[in-house]
Amino acid sequence: MAELYPWFQPQFSQMLSLIKQQQLAHALVLCGQDGIGKSALADALAAVLLCKNRQSDGACGQCKSCLLRHAGNHADLLHLRTDTQHLGVDAIRQLNNFTQGAAQQHGNRVAIIPKADSMTEAAANALLKTLEEPPAGCFIVLVTSNYLQLSATIRSRCQQWQLSAANQTDTAQWLSTKITKPPPAFLLEYCQGAPLKALSLLENGTAESLSDTLRLLDEYFNGKLLLSAAVKQLDGQAELSGLLSFYIRQRLAQPLAFLKQQAVLTAYQRWCRDATRIIGQNSALALTDLLTELKTLLQHPEAKWKS
Ligand SMILES: [Zn+2]
Repeated sequence: MAELYPWFQPQFSQMLSLIKQQQLAHALVLCGQDGIGKSALADALAAVLLCKNRQSDGACGQCKSCLLRHAGNHADLLHLRTDTQHLGVDAIRQLNNFTQGAAQQHGNRVAIIPKADSMTEAAANALLKTLEEPPAGCFIVLVTSNYLQLSATIRSRCQQWQLSAANQTDTAQWLSTKITKPPPAFLLEYCQGAPLKALSLLENGTAESLSDTLRLLDEYFNGKLLLSAAVKQLDGQAELSGLLSFYIRQRLAQPLAFLKQQAVLTAYQRWCRDATRIIGQNSALALTDLLTELKTLLQHPEAKWKS
């Protein structure tokens, strides 16, 4: 069975109790930021809905339904997949056919739509009808990190489960069961309580290089590293935009007066905008401009920025 992350235990218990009372909505949307494990919760919910020998804390893991699901071979579970960036109408038609058929295991049927916000307009329209009249015993679980991107009509027909990120203590505790050495100090704050993101950055070694980059930025802003050397090491780095955003917000802007904070954030936003809009932009030059501007802003007398 997919791991049910400890920070979702309250919501999962609530789902179990709604199932028991036969009051779980037939269309649900699980929403919340990336990297918190929403898909795993959708899987755990599907497992319970399909299990033939439901336990008080979830699926039994041993009945025929659980074994079939475990083998990735349960005819009453549809996990929509798409190879493209958008979830098209063909995938939703497949889902509609699935919901209209009879259950193979004489129980519930569950369809999971990951990245539901990537549905095209035609796909969303095709889904609406099924959401309006869900066949008996059929549950549709939409998963998204961008709830507002779903059309208002889709939203109005689904029960919303707003899942929040784990707090830093829970994240740290869970991470300690996965990795041996303690994570770098900045990581939990950087991942904003998205434990799966933190784990993946640790496992693929990115966390360490991000830590080095933060140190490098500190050295530059403290006058211990030349601009050219800083740019040379920063330019083209993976996650640079996210890390700069974090550094600017958490380290540079926080102690500043309001107007100066705004100026610092505006400089960063302009850099981001240019990076996506200007084709063939000289990235080293753009980064040089940004770092220079930030340093100037930080060195200016505070009075100048106060209204
Ligand atoms: Zn079972």
